[in-house]
Amino acid sequence: MIGVFGGTFDPIHLGHLRPVLEVHQALQLERTHFIPCRIPVHRTPPLADASTRLAMVRLAVEQVQGFVADDRELNRQSPSYMVDTLVSLQQDFPTDSLCLLLGADAFAQFEQWKSWRRILQLANLLVMRRPSGMPLDLAEDLRARVTAEQKVFRASQAGRILFFDVTLMDISATRVRQAVMEGKAIRYWVTDKVCEFIADKKLYKSK
Ligand code: ATP
Repeated sequence: MIGVFGGTFDPIHLGHLRPVLEVHQALQLERTHFIPCRIPVHRTPPLADASTRLAMVRLAVEQVQGFVADDRELNRQSPSYMVDTLVSLQQDFPTDSLCLLLGADAFAQFEQWKSWRRILQLANLLVMRRPSGMPLDLAEDLRARVTAEQKVFRASQAGRILFFDVTLMDISATRVRQAVMEGKAIRYWVTDKVCEFIADKKLYKSK
């Protein structure tokens, strides 16, 4: 099973990395791909350009065995729809099942994603609970897919949903960017290398 973790990563921070590592280890994923989006579809445009965000993802994951910085969305001209990303991963790794990792806040919007039913044919969904709270009202067709059994989830080719408790870290990229803008330290919110990169490139100094 391959983990798929997409995001804006503007910038990538420990609130992304630590929970994903916990999932990666617990489910014994073969690899986990971190996939920065080129053009996000569900939010305001990022401040840093796509290649800069990818460079930070590379710096953050390069030492971690099993973590991969994946640039496939950056090579596409169209907006970054997860369904297209999963199709492309399935083509590259036809014998592996896919596990899409989502924060609970992202999962709360899941039914607004393009072709979300198709996504569930392509991948399993792992929802990482985060401090901002859990979505409570799951639509019936999503609720029916939820399993509490990691074994069942691990054996599923696609379509299962697992809620997974991770170490809660109340860090967001918004908070990191805000701190840089205010001249405050961001050390221990991001990896040391990402911290240095942001300082070197003078990122997020202004809006
Ligand atoms: P921003 O503050 O700019 O909106 P963000 O910190 O939420 O960004 P994204 O790159 O938009 O980061 O998030 C990518 C994915 O990581 C989403 O699925 C999101 O739910 C999840 N995520 C972000 N921060 C955390 C966190 N602290 N704990 C768990 N999941 C997180």
